[in-house]
Amino acid sequence: MRPEILFPLFAPVTALPGVGPRFGKLLEKLAGPHVVDLLWHLPDGIIDRRFRPKIMEAPEGAIATITVEVDAHLRPGNPRQPYRVRCRDETGFLHLVFFHVKGDYLAKLLPVGSTRVVSGKVEHFNNQVQITHPDHIVDPGESDRLKPIEPVYGLTAGLPLRTLQKAVAAALSRVPALPEWLDPGFLNRRGWLAWGEALAKCHAPESEEDLLPLAAPRQRLAYDEMLANQLAIALVRAHTKRLPGRPLAAHGRLRQKVLDALPFSLTPSQRQALAEIAGDMAAPSRMLRLLQGDVGSGKTVVALLAMLDAVEAGAQAALMAPTEILARQHFATLTKLAAPSGVKIALLTGREKGRARDALLAALASGEIGIAVGTHALFQEDVIFHDLALAVIDEQHRFGVEQRIALSGKGRGVDILVMTATPIPRTLMLTSFGDLDSSRLTEKPAGRRPVTTRTLPLSRLDEVIDGVKRALSQGAKIYWICPLVEESEAVDLAAADERHAQLKALFGERVGLVHGRMKGAEKDRVMEGFAAGAIDLLVATTVVEVGVDVPDATVMVIEHAERFGLAQLHQLRGRIGRGDKPSACLLLYAPPLGETAKARLAILRETEDGFRIAEEDLRLRGAGEVLGTRQSGLPELRLADLAAHADLLAIARDDARLVLSRDPDLSSPRGQALRTLLYLFQRDLAVPYIRSG
Ligand code: ADP
Ligand code: MG
Repeated sequence: MRPEILFPLFAPVTALPGVGPRFGKLLEKLAGPHVVDLLWHLPDGIIDRRFRPKIMEAPEGAIATITVEVDAHLRPGNPRQPYRVRCRDETGFLHLVFFHVKGDYLAKLLPVGSTRVVSGKVEHFNNQVQITHPDHIVDPGESDRLKPIEPVYGLTAGLPLRTLQKAVAAALSRVPALPEWLDPGFLNRRGWLAWGEALAKCHAPESEEDLLPLAAPRQRLAYDEMLANQLAIALVRAHTKRLPGRPLAAHGRLRQKVLDALPFSLTPSQRQALAEIAGDMAAPSRMLRLLQGDVGSGKTVVALLAMLDAVEAGAQAALMAPTEILARQHFATLTKLAAPSGVKIALLTGREKGRARDALLAALASGEIGIAVGTHALFQEDVIFHDLALAVIDEQHRFGVEQRIALSGKGRGVDILVMTATPIPRTLMLTSFGDLDSSRLTEKPAGRRPVTTRTLPLSRLDEVIDGVKRALSQGAKIYWICPLVEESEAVDLAAADERHAQLKALFGERVGLVHGRMKGAEKDRVMEGFAAGAIDLLVATTVVEVGVDVPDATVMVIEHAERFGLAQLHQLRGRIGRGDKPSACLLLYAPPLGETAKARLAILRETEDGFRIAEEDLRLRGAGEVLGTRQSGLPELRLADLAAHADLLAIARDDARLVLSRDPDLSSPRGQALRTLLYLFQRDLAVPYIRSG
């Protein structure tokens, strides 16, 4: 349970004064739903208001704070003209300019004859000095309301800076005094402030240097975040290591039967991975290993061979996929590949029902089925294995730690192998998957052709359609990807629908549509149509991302490529270039492209190496966003910058391990404070793994 002292920080943002439902939504979109999320939203700039010239000394373009006397209100002749308030000091006139003025608030704010301190950007216009919509207008008596230096924050459309500043200030005023969780000696050596003070300092930068990741208060917050993360990882890892495992003895007899029948030989990294996995399985402790490899690098075969070892050792194995489509595809592939071994493979998803399901469950419970392939349905309570010893989880990002644990609960000392097609940079591996060992498949299987990637502005859609027409006439299979942006699924769906209708009008019945809102059976029917050849042009939202295998698809068009992340584009592109024919990927974008978007598309043109793309992605975006972490259930880092704080990360890891070795149940005063830290950074999931007394 979250400690009470943190309750004010986990109230919704709308609990803050001045934040109603409208701004609440925007703040949530920008930072997150809770008060604490605003605290983590650090400024990325400053406005310096210390320049206090006389009116005639204020240069064009400067941010100036000027004390003036209100001279006259010059109301506009027609509503399209601005409302002007003429002010003066001993050097001349300053015009304050306002557009869209409603009511008489200006008369109240700036009564003629009053003295006011105004601050904003100076403009010289028609030989007049003016400020349009001053940022601040205050009575000299309350000029302490005017901060000499203001923090500037990243914003979202519709959210004014002032509103965000006020909300952050209100959030800061709710920060409780928390017990210190850092080692006092370390804190002193670093010269860091207490957490609350460091946080306040981060939101009150006094210079550009204060905004840098290496500014001391920022380092402190980054360290806290990494420590929470490392502690959570160390707790889960310690828990896993304590669980009894079991040695699985296999001689590779079943494996060999399958290998002998394969039309190819394993790549060196497949062999290496398999040896690592077999080593873990043979050891008496539990395996928790990540198998990383690009789309098409041949993870499935490796997983199958490992599962056959489990079956040969007299136990069972399960492979869990994130979607129905993928589960069916894995089932089909594995059934074919495993045929020479004689091992019985079954499929269990939400769609297996009634009698068929009962029979299947009975066969699982009796051990007749050696390998079960499925979705979340494998977790259901009535699914009982005779003796589950190895669980393979495909596409880690869709599953969290909880699922891993649920699945291991289905057997005795279950070894776990997690497969992911998203290559994870080494630094990120440490922060996010520190509890996993890892094997990497680095080369693509032989015979693959490179994919030619081009970028084009959307204005050249007609050319693209002509190209598609030519390719179709030569018998190509084509993916046409429409972006799905969460905020308005309905609108995006409409866009995909419209594109589908347009292409169908051009190319007829051989154009299909598949999207995330479709029912499972309907989706499968379309996908099967595409695989079998009834459909040649498949318009899809990103549902194809994860791993659908249509090896003879050779063209992919991606609309609004600038809206996708680098890793996602790479994943999507991995759907083509899987067969022996040359493939092409067209990335359509809406100009103008920002610097980052430009760099992303350039990297995709340049390379297909997933590990390199992942490193670049990390460099361009920062770790927190690399994997789309919020949706993925991966812990995100919001304060730490893995490039700038790499040295701190290593310290945090050692710190976490040391603490747990000395105080495994976190019962010392520092241990108690560290529990609060875990909750503060929402690593609640790790708390149950604190060893009790
Ligand atoms: P992943 O799951 O990593 O995306 P798959 O395991 O689905 O990749 O493999 C993609 C395709 O490559 C499959 O058709 C598979 O049979 C084939 N394949 C796997 N390993 C090799 C290899 N060593 N040489 C040639 N083809 C391979
Ligand atoms: Mg796969």
